[in-house]
Amino acid sequence: MRLILLGPPGSGKGTQAQRLVHKHGIVQLSTGEMLRAAVAAQTPVGIQAQGIMASGGLVPDEIVIGIISDRLDQPDAANGFILDGFPRTVPQAEALDELLKKKHIKLDAVVELRVNESALLQRVETRVAEMRARGEEVRIDDTPEVLTRRLASYRSLTEPLIHYYSERRKLLTVDGMMTIEHVTREINRILAAIGAVEAKAAKKSAKAAAGRAAKPARNRAAVSGNTARKTAKTARKAGKSAAKAVKKPSRKVPASSRARAIGKAGKSAKKITKKRAKA
Ligand code: ADP
Repeated sequence: MRLILLGPPGSGKGTQAQRLVHKHGIVQLSTGEMLRAAVAAQTPVGIQAQGIMASGGLVPDEIVIGIISDRLDQPDAANGFILDGFPRTVPQAEALDELLKKKHIKLDAVVELRVNESALLQRVETRVAEMRARGEEVRIDDTPEVLTRRLASYRSLTEPLIHYYSERRKLLTVDGMMTIEHVTREINRILAAIGAVEAKAAKKSAKAAAGRAAKPARNRAAVSGNTARKTAKTARKAGKSAAKAVKKPSRKVPASSRARAIGKAGKSAKKITKKRAKA
């Protein structure tokens, strides 16, 4: 499975990436983590990146593209990967397309974690407090001032990627405001629906999706009526298509269903993009 996780700082990309790594036996390629390691080791890249990172700016494209290209060549990435924090700009996405083409790697999907911006500052503050309580070193860029800059940079440079991947029919949007557990289940469900996960995992997700569809009220107390109905409908559909994929383990979900699943996500992402553009 080859995925990109897209979302603003504090949206839960790191948390969800770790869960996907655990479940699917793939690797997490986080440019933020790699750059922080380079800074700690004071490599030439680290020395160049540290001031930029501390101020909430973006490290030059050629550096991160180089890091990712090298990392994709390592044997542990052959089984599948999740890109977390990369690409962060349209030029980086274009460079990634080129890289993947050259390396004959196909991307399965781009999962966008959509969150309410007003909750992000609180989430990062909680993360800082928890890290302090555990005696861990707090990230130098996890301050309200720098976070505001990181968010502004996400909005202007990274958010256009939602449109970029939606146009390429790769985008799947998940509500990142649900509980961690619920977001994980939702990600696994949509990945099963597009045939990106193995039959065994798909079967499990199909069961969970069917269960949720049968009892929509149980997990959806916090979701508005309209959304809950739509989600339940999608869950039932996903359950069906995932079940189909399970019945025919040698074949993935038919191309038409896959296009529909991604197309749907694409349409809703387009709506969101429009809304955002208006705001
Ligand atoms: P966040 O929690 O804001 O998503 P990350 O851990 O992904 O943070 O990244 C931390 C910092 O590392 C970013 O603010 C940026 O300075 C740098 N960085 C990470 N990935 C990239 C990238 N793809 N392009 C440019 N800079 C990056």
